[in-house]
This record gives sequence, C-alpha cells and structure tokens, in this order.
Amino acid sequence: MTKIGVLGLQGAVREHVRSLEACGAEAVVIKRKEQLEEVEGLILPGGESTTMRRLIDKYDFLDALKNFGQSGKPMFGTCAGLILLAKEIGSISTGHLELMDIKAERNAFGRQRESFEADIDLKGIAEGFNAVFIRAPYILETGDDVEILATYYDKIVAAQQDHYLACAFHPELTDDHRFTQHFVDMVKQSQKKLASL
Ligand code: GLN
Repeated sequence: MTKIGVLGLQGAVREHVRSLEACGAEAVVIKRKEQLEEVEGLILPGGESTTMRRLIDKYDFLDALKNFGQSGKPMFGTCAGLILLAKEIGSISTGHLELMDIKAERNAFGRQRESFEADIDLKGIAEGFNAVFIRAPYILETGDDVEILATYYDKIVAAQQDHYLACAFHPELTDDHRFTQHFVDMVKQSQKKLASL
C-alpha cells in the first residue's frame, strides 16, 4: 500500500489521515524527521504557518523537508502548508521551504471573509468541489511551469508544479476526497517513476 506522511507538528493532522485512508493509502503521522524515510509522499497540513515554522526549526526539520521535495517525492501543502511550500511570501518576500515556484499572500481574503465555503472547479480533477477556506492565503504569482488548477474571484487558490501540489483551502474537512485522491495518484505515479530511474 502507498504510504503517505502527514507532517504532525501542528494543525489539521488527523483529518488528513482520515482522508488519505478513505483514498486507500496508508497514512503516517510524521513527528520526527527520520520518519520521512518511510513515506513516498507528504502532506503539509493547514494550521498556523508561523507556529509550524517555529516547530520545524525546533525539531530540526527544515533540511529534511527540503531534501524530501528535492528528491522528487510529492508534497501537498494545504492552506498553511501552501505558505510553507511557497518560494516567496508576499509580506516578507522570502519563504520557508521555498520549494514551489509560487508567491503566497497570508490571510489574503481579509477579515470580513475569514472563513467561508465555496464551490470551485479543480481543472481536470473535480467539478463543483466544496472548498472550505479558513483564514486562507491565496497565490499572488506563479512561475512559468506552474499549472493553475483553480481560481476563486480571480484569485489563484490551487496549483501544481510537477510533484508539488498546493491549495489555499482545506480539502480534508469534507467527505469529498477527490483532491486528496489526485495527490495519492501523483504519489503512485512518482513511485513508478522513481523506481525506474
Ligand atoms: N492563516 C494561516 C497562516 O498564515 C493559515 C490558515 C490555515 O491553515 N487554515 O498560516
């Protein structure tokens, strides 16, 4: 069975585990960097990116996470996880893991729209997907080889660049697992590709 990790330092960890299991994958909650060797793909969950970054530093995860992505293993950043993956963050113009060629803006929908749900279309993956946004970021800019998967009122809310997938919403909070299934399929594809190298 395909083993996929969920970074378990902070945030919506259990919900991702449930969603991965619903997609027929085995989920591993990653609390120590050594555990990254056990998994073929990794989800960076939603939560609070500044807190997560503090814990990443505290538990010496930064290089291990960067190496994981650079080795070609798929990573899926949801909400705060998108912020962690981004090469640049609007307000501070550097990033955390700096793996995906996107510029993210934190808490970008403003106070009056702190949390909301919207039906969006995920290009080639799911139509009418109920997306839950919680103090969500959005993507301000994308590099040339980034595919935009979804927008909401012209704001980019989901994108993919090769083995990196990111979304501004929480795909794990409903029973619609189509987006998580897309990530599980990406991990399966990459297992085949990495095995043939
Ligand atoms: N606003 C949070 C941050 O900046 C992200 C919110 C979320 O993950 N639901 O990290």
